[in-house]
Amino acid sequence: MNIQELIQRIRTNLGMKQGTPNEAVLGFLRVLEEVRAADLTCDEIYSKLDEYVERQADRHDAAELMPLIREHLDLCPECCEEYEALLKVIEEAGEK
Ligand SMILES: [Zn+2]
Repeated sequence: MNIQELIQRIRTNLGMKQGTPNEAVLGFLRVLEEVRAADLTCDEIYSKLDEYVERQADRHDAAELMPLIREHLDLCPECCEEYEALLKVIEEAGEK
């Protein structure tokens, strides 16, 4: 289980057991996410995003091939936005 799955699992459990998750637990999760997201900088993501998006548009297995990028995209709204914009461009170009 990676950290992302762990966080997701904790969130799911919290959501099921109590309407409002404990503030301290949320703070802890935020720290975990920030540490994880810091593994790769946004610059590093940008430099690999083309490759990632092409792979995803072509074979739909980019997340398996480059899990760290997938993780960063999950955590970083800016990069995720960039990724989705690129993916759209490539998919539209592919449809012709
Ligand atoms: Zn980023």
